Amino acid sequence: MVAITEQQVRELAGFRGEVAPVTSCYLDVDGARQVRHHDVVRELERLIRATRGRLNGDPSVVADVRRIEDHVKGGFDRSRTRGLAMFSCSAHDLWQVIELPVPVRSQLVVNHTPSVGQLEQVIDQFERFGVLLVDRQRARMFVFELGELVESTAVFDQLPRGDDDDHSYTKDQARDHAAARARAHLRHAADVAFGVFQDQSFERLILGAADDLAAEVESLLHPYLRERLVARCTIPLHASDEEIRLTALQVESEVEREKEAQAVSRLREAVGGGGLGVAGIDPTLLALVERRVETLLVSSGYTEAGWRCESCRWIGRRGRSCPVCQSDMVQVDDVVEEAIEDALAQSCKVEICIGNADLDVLGRIGALVRY
Ligand SMILES: [Zn+2]
Repeated sequence: MVAITEQQVRELAGFRGEVAPVTSCYLDVDGARQVRHHDVVRELERLIRATRGRLNGDPSVVADVRRIEDHVKGGFDRSRTRGLAMFSCSAHDLWQVIELPVPVRSQLVVNHTPSVGQLEQVIDQFERFGVLLVDRQRARMFVFELGELVESTAVFDQLPRGDDDDHSYTKDQARDHAAARARAHLRHAADVAFGVFQDQSFERLILGAADDLAAEVESLLHPYLRERLVARCTIPLHASDEEIRLTALQVESEVEREKEAQAVSRLREAVGGGGLGVAGIDPTLLALVERRVETLLVSSGYTEAGWRCESCRWIGRRGRSCPVCQSDMVQVDDVVEEAIEDALAQSCKVEICIGNADLDVLGRIGALVRY
């Protein structure tokens, strides 16, 4: 499984098919729905048939579709792949396949740029995160990427045996000694967590520890980890990797929803207070064209037909003549997808929000702007 990074998605979003369009294909290859390899091939054939009318006759696109078919028919590792994303532009020698451990919606798009919306959504929803579980003598540290476990480290610090063996100890000394050992273990756990972070890097950390330990562990964490700490959970240390993964994903998705809610509430305040925010499709597209966007917020699943000017890159809902340069524009299936691509290519932050009613009320799209 090749990890996909935000950087790669931005590079893809910045690609322009100057002499021929780009073919983007997402294929749902989830074993739960497409049981046999044959089912996957049929899913692709169905997709190509459904899109055929809209595929133009460009020889580069014909070659793209053949390449995609060859790749899918040739087989790929399905044990961990639930979604395939393929980007091809034969005329420019672009060919990129991304195997995802999460499902995608089958989609075939021919456009002047790669259709990275779904990929961005996957990256946004499944940020790389760490989980540190600690009890009095053990610690386990995990890193998850796209919902999959990519790193697991365990620590075991034997507790001192009965201190009353040594009669020279006073009770106070024994207690101090035990406390020092306990603290040394927590410090060890915090050090291991930092080592994993330096090695693996992640955006967020979830801490699993009993209440009486959690505050102390927190105080021992390296500042880089403390600033990434977003939630606590209670997963027992003896839980299986799969139990830990499922609980951690649940906690992580709550954290993600909360982060989205905060971004939407910042947007609401900015829009309501006449500040640095725009809401609704038309003002948001305009802000993007004017390169004023800092963060783009989009409700998951929102699509809207529109137009793109290929000479000055203007996008909007109304065609056909470009309001800026008067060129004839091209019609695009989904101007929201175009907006996400532009935002990524402009290095804006993109927040795709799931089930956020407040953003829906604002028009399902909006942006925090720089000026
Ligand atoms: Zn124009």
